Amino acid sequence: MNSKINSSFLAQLGAVVGEKYVITHPTRLDRNSRDTYWYSPILKKQLDGKVADVIVQPKSADELTQIIALCVRERVPIVPRGAGTGNYGQSVPIHGGVLISTKRMNQILELTPELARLEAGVILLNVETAAREIGAELRFFPSTLPTSTAAGFMAGGSAGPGSMNWGNLWTPGNILQVTIITIEEEPQTIKISDPAEMQAVIHNCGLTAFISEVTFALAPAEPWQQYVLAHPHFEDALRFGEQLAKDKQFPTRLVSVLDWPSPTFFKQLIKENACPDDHALVLLHTTKNKSDVEHIAQSAGARVTWHNPVASTHKSNLELSDFAWNHTTLWALKADPAWTYLQDTLNPENFYEQLRQRKEKFGDDVIDHIEFTGAGGEPYPAGLTLVRYKSDEQIQDVIDYGESIGIMQYSPHTTVLDEENTRWEWKHLVEAKKVWDRHGLLNPGHLQNN
Ligand SMILES: Cc1cc2nc3c(=O)[nH]c(=O)nc-3n(C[C@H](O)[C@H](O)[C@H](O)COP(=O)(O)OP(=O)(O)OC[C@H]3O[C@@H](n4cnc5c(N)ncnc54)[C@H](O)[C@@H]3O)c2cc1C
Repeated sequence: MNSKINSSFLAQLGAVVGEKYVITHPTRLDRNSRDTYWYSPILKKQLDGKVADVIVQPKSADELTQIIALCVRERVPIVPRGAGTGNYGQSVPIHGGVLISTKRMNQILELTPELARLEAGVILLNVETAAREIGAELRFFPSTLPTSTAAGFMAGGSAGPGSMNWGNLWTPGNILQVTIITIEEEPQTIKISDPAEMQAVIHNCGLTAFISEVTFALAPAEPWQQYVLAHPHFEDALRFGEQLAKDKQFPTRLVSVLDWPSPTFFKQLIKENACPDDHALVLLHTTKNKSDVEHIAQSAGARVTWHNPVASTHKSNLELSDFAWNHTTLWALKADPAWTYLQDTLNPENFYEQLRQRKEKFGDDVIDHIEFTGAGGEPYPAGLTLVRYKSDEQIQDVIDYGESIGIMQYSPHTTVLDEENTRWEWKHLVEAKKVWDRHGLLNPGHLQNN
């Protein structure tokens, strides 16, 4: 326990948010101090057992500002937290302190067919559902749509279904405005809408400033249908996926290509007979009807094994994005905890060759999983490759080999953002932190230069 977090400090927090929303119960502290860092056996060793001293749940930006001011006055660490679905341990309070949960800051402040202005803790599924009622939809979303928060996605995510059309969080125009609160004794509230300035907040991993509000640009709603297609050969399935992702006459929101045996991890899809033995899968969201999809599949040697004419926004229904993006890794880990993953950016010019070479070198210890994504213009292939963990060194070997053949690796096995192998654009984050968090109180331990 941080000695500054004493009964008087807790009483002051309670005076701002109400006692009920100041949480010190050990089980709740433990549960809410984790994210999904356990995807990485390397991070698991480093982060297990790190807990906050107290959790506070403000209801408004005003309460949030008062909490931040209190923490800065006492110089205690502050850790922002949305739903805690991040994969890199970035909301794990390495040095304890006050974990500020945005759970109660959950109001959709403005919704038009063009934009959604949201409090930090709004669950994205609620935005998608409300947007569809007025003929709009999120441009793209993480596959954790039913749980993850607006600010958590902006600060901890990158891309997801829809990205092949709209790019990622860094693509100008996707985030129209963000409101941040600085970490000072007298916190400032700053609205940022300039895309260049916004780079200091996007994927900031809770390090530069506290986000209180985000405005996402929306897209016109489309009648997405869901398909699973099976193909006996992974490389042909991938060519087919690439063709679909690039075909402007064939609108898509999700094209995930998964090599066998990853379909063996998908119990719900197996129940639906969607996963024939020894077949690779293409998971697809498109507006095309079944006969069109069957026709194009047949010409590529694939077949439709499952179809649902609506893309579900309900938690209880089968939704293919629950098997795509970083959900694939979750199903693999549920089947066998030895799996972990890598995040690759492949070379669009020769990625078939890159995948072939890596497979040849590591065999069944890697399973290919490709998502088609975009950053304005042509969709490109990104890998969320499953890797069977044997040792820290072996993971590094796979990373090093990938780099040696031109596969760019964004390592999900470090909690330190400003390491070369994270490959994130962190320099402007470090600069912004010097201005907005002069005392280095926000989420300490996740930067070398902090
Ligand atoms: C099964 C699974 C699938 C996933 N699929 C995707 C995917 O498709 N695409 C993708 O991009 N990610 C994906 N992720 C990662 C993660 O779910 C998303 O990035 C998600 O949007 C994070 O939202 P969250 O509310 O859970 O954030 P949290 O995990 O709570 O926080 C993420 C980061 O943001 C910071 N943060 C949270 N709120 C604030 C705030 N108000 N101000 C400042 N910093 C803040 C936290 O400190 C932390 O560093 C996946 C993860 C899992 C487990």
